[in-house]
Amino acid sequence: MMKSYQSPDKKLVEKYGTRQGSFYTFYPMNGLWNEQHGASSYKTALEELIKTRPNAPLSLYLHFPFCMKQCFFCHCFTVISGNTQDHSKFIDYLLKELEILRQFFDAQGFTPNFRELHFGGGSPSIIGKEDFRRVWQALEPMVKVENLYECTIEIDPRYNANVDQLKFYHDMGIDRISFGVQDFNPDIGKIINRVNPPEMLEPLLTDEVRSMFKSINFDLIYGMPNQTPELFRETVQHAIRLNPDRLAVYIFGHRPDIYRHQQAFDKYRLPDTYESACVFVEAVNQFLDSGYEFVGVDHMAKSTDVLAIAKKEGTLFRNAIGYTPGRSSDIIGLGPSSMGIVGPHYFQNYYTLPSYYEALDRGDLPIVRGVLVNDDDILRRAVMFDIILYEKLEKVKIQNTFSIENFDDYFAEELELLTEFVEDGLVEIDDTEIRVTDVGRFYQRQICKIFDIYDRAQGYRHSREFEDGRAALDRKVQLS
Ligand code: SF4
Repeated sequence: MMKSYQSPDKKLVEKYGTRQGSFYTFYPMNGLWNEQHGASSYKTALEELIKTRPNAPLSLYLHFPFCMKQCFFCHCFTVISGNTQDHSKFIDYLLKELEILRQFFDAQGFTPNFRELHFGGGSPSIIGKEDFRRVWQALEPMVKVENLYECTIEIDPRYNANVDQLKFYHDMGIDRISFGVQDFNPDIGKIINRVNPPEMLEPLLTDEVRSMFKSINFDLIYGMPNQTPELFRETVQHAIRLNPDRLAVYIFGHRPDIYRHQQAFDKYRLPDTYESACVFVEAVNQFLDSGYEFVGVDHMAKSTDVLAIAKKEGTLFRNAIGYTPGRSSDIIGLGPSSMGIVGPHYFQNYYTLPSYYEALDRGDLPIVRGVLVNDDDILRRAVMFDIILYEKLEKVKIQNTFSIENFDDYFAEELELLTEFVEDGLVEIDDTEIRVTDVGRFYQRQICKIFDIYDRAQGYRHSREFEDGRAALDRKVQLS
């Protein structure tokens, strides 16, 4: 029988809905990374990697910060400009960053084993073909397309998106594409400043285009202003009809205090937490009914998609890119605000273009902050990943992997805090396992939060550079 989740219990939503933890793509989250762990620590971390794991499969992430228009729901650190000169200037600097990295690797006699390549943003699909080719040529000495497990790009369907452009990506070696859709309804589109009805996607998704890419992804967002359960149901139906291989169905984060463009939503009705929870469970059930699998917190995939396969094979992973099939755990991030993972280190580039450009003009790698995680962080991350990736944690496996004597003793405080989750039917705990129940699948972030010792101690904060940059961008955004 087809799996179906029950409608959420209002009392549980009211109790746990406000306790959402981070998405735990990293742990500890970047609010706790520090500026002392900057470019020189990054070089040291890369040297360690070259010395100890020279063949480690690596992912390369390139962040293109520009967008044509400000979507009012957005949390990304973007620069709104359709000016191709701005874009080309940025590409000049991105190539500088790549060149600094290449020279560093060459000096070590190191050939990186890049196995994944991701173009994200912002809107990387608004880069002109010439600029895109320049990036590709600069990558060639380090990235062999034939060695890549996957090569992806995020696409804004409103600009530059046509079959010819998709063929161009395919010819360059891109084999997975992701469309930012968010909501198909044009009235909601006007409110969020992003109108992309299904008719915009339909002509793009021809049989020929589908045959060119291993996987096609849609991003949707629920909980946005004036979205009703009926309207989002229609958006989900359109998505199912258009038949992507994978979907991310994100919850809208309403933070007008941080993202001032969200003040444009002040005049609209926002669904409350319970209505949003109902909408999400219904969307999950619609996708399950249509043959998708519920891979993780906010991801659905067909059984043939690598994410669904990775979940079955136990290799699913989570990082800045979101859920991944787990082929590489290290990421080199290029471009403003991009994040990297090198062994036990996390790093992040400067957010704002002036800071990013200045660092590169000095000949430095543009790292603004990072952190060296400790043994307890790694242990807790593994616990959270078991919960958020597999909904099940085997205590003995954790004990053996991390040489702790007794899981229950090490996490006595957390197990005590989980008692109410057990009483509320979100988790089951016995001598050997912690299991997330069907009801608990909609509270995985809250369950992970119990194991997040920093969140319990002091909470997270944005970096000073993020705050200053955000304020500067806010001044530029025209609210309508
Ligand atoms: S949602 Fe995407 S296209 Fe819209 S502003 Fe944010 S990054 Fe840009």
